[in-house]
Amino acid sequence: MSDLPSFADRHDFENASRGFVAALTPGIVTAADGRVVWDSDAYGFLDGDRPDTVNPSLWRQGQLCRKQGLFEVTDGIYQVRGLDLSNISFIEGDTGVIVIDPLISVECAAAALKLYREHRGDRPVMAVIYTHSHVDHFGGVRGVLPDGADVPVIAPAGFLKSAVSENVYAGAAMSRRGVYQYGAELPKNPDGQVGCGLGLGVSTGTVSLVPPTLDITHTNQAETVDGVRIIFQLTPGTEAPAEMNFYFPDRRALCMAENATHNLHNLLTLRGAVVRNPHTWARYLTEATELFADKSDVVFASHHWPTWGRQELTTFLTQQRDLYAYLHDQTLRLLNQGYTGTEIAELIELPPALEHAWHARGYYGSVSHDVKAIYQHYMGWFDGNPAHLWELPPEPSAAKHVEYMGGAQAVIERVRASDEDPRWTAQALNYVVFADPGNKEARELLASTYDRLARGAENATWRNFYLQGADELRGRRATTPVDTASPEVAAALTVEQLFDSIAIRVNGPKAWDKAVTIAWDFTDLKEEMRLHLSNGVLIQTHSANGAPADLTVTLTKPQLLRLLATGSLDGIETTGNRGALRTLLGVLDTANDQFAMVTP
Ligand SMILES: [Zn+2]
Repeated sequence: MSDLPSFADRHDFENASRGFVAALTPGIVTAADGRVVWDSDAYGFLDGDRPDTVNPSLWRQGQLCRKQGLFEVTDGIYQVRGLDLSNISFIEGDTGVIVIDPLISVECAAAALKLYREHRGDRPVMAVIYTHSHVDHFGGVRGVLPDGADVPVIAPAGFLKSAVSENVYAGAAMSRRGVYQYGAELPKNPDGQVGCGLGLGVSTGTVSLVPPTLDITHTNQAETVDGVRIIFQLTPGTEAPAEMNFYFPDRRALCMAENATHNLHNLLTLRGAVVRNPHTWARYLTEATELFADKSDVVFASHHWPTWGRQELTTFLTQQRDLYAYLHDQTLRLLNQGYTGTEIAELIELPPALEHAWHARGYYGSVSHDVKAIYQHYMGWFDGNPAHLWELPPEPSAAKHVEYMGGAQAVIERVRASDEDPRWTAQALNYVVFADPGNKEARELLASTYDRLARGAENATWRNFYLQGADELRGRRATTPVDTASPEVAAALTVEQLFDSIAIRVNGPKAWDKAVTIAWDFTDLKEEMRLHLSNGVLIQTHSANGAPADLTVTLTKPQLLRLLATGSLDGIETTGNRGALRTLLGVLDTANDQFAMVTP
């Protein structure tokens, strides 16, 4: 393990408790049907002494994330922390309150607002601000905005497209892998999930989405909401495709969204994502520091605790910046010397000042997987070695490995007799399991190797991956917890995105010999679209040129959503051959969000 900062430095604990007003007691949020969607009391074990089943640095981070309740950040600015993965912030205006980032679930956001109001009065919500397009920053919005509320909803330009598109293309695979990343199905105890680094866990309530009404389109855009002046800095392509920081001049307070938090963040989340660019990220952190640091007394964000003091927050912001810039530049320096991503991940060490800064530790991202992400961003999956150009896929490769290693029993005995690095043991035993998933002894041995790797992991998401993998090797398959493709999120998709979501479900070989053209006339959108199925691919166009349509469907977008969800044509007008639609629906696959990960 690398050199750690000092555990005697308790400053983060002071900051994580500073301004404490009250906790939610009990720390449990339930849905209307009584189902528990958030339980911070389940993490009570973190208040005790660290057992040797958890990495000391990660245990410390879990203790910090566990501090739950309403906190005063500065005069007129409050946060509820620890009631979901993210923070919800409240900015008091002339007559009411502005809500920043209403958590993942409606139920959690409502509980947080209630807690705030119990201590700060029954202030009406005058506006909502989404810092960025990830679900933990908007999903609970219906919990703070009653139906029909007519208040501004402010978001960075491009918010809606980014917020919903993640669920269109790789949604099922990401949510399956998300179960591993967040360890949502693992027991909360010293042998199980002890947090996610970024927070304790993800709530499992109702996800909602109210589209923004006011876009922030440029840096230095100034808005006044309920008497509160806000100056925005647009930071696209940092932690999210659409993200922004903003400054409250009258409170000398800076909100850094998720661009500067108390961990090294992900450049590529382990659940899968498009790679983020640390070069862009670092550049915007420089800009934020130059624009606002000198005029700020406190920095807060939508995860973790604030940082107070001009000197301290400037150091925090510049170190966060240096962290991303260093990883970016050093990875490129080394790849230009011929090292591959896996090699660079072992070579890079952070400069001592960053290595010894608690907020730069890899609880969520890690130097190892962030470096591989940068390599991937610039160079792709191929490392240039022709041996890796056309490798056997995992199952036949595993069978060959085991055969060449002298058979499954020889591998197992070798592992039992030696005290190898568990990184290697995991690789070797994984061959045995992929060659013969029925080999119980190999499965248990691999599971205990994952347990061992989990106990050593400083990174919470690595720990969760190892433990979830061990669980599934032992026969306990997790189910998908959060449905981020909720009806409101689906309804926010454009027609083009909805048709894209159909196109990626076309079973190519099944559709090779099918050819249909369907015209879609959207009466509510005043828009005409065409779908052409041929060669196993579904193409959408706006043009009415080309082949005459086999079928014309006249409908509204809500009717399309219902048609896609249920296959029902009720109330939808069609002319032509309805068989064309049956042909199309007949070649669509359904995504599998329960696929195997640690077995073939
Ligand atoms: Zn977040």
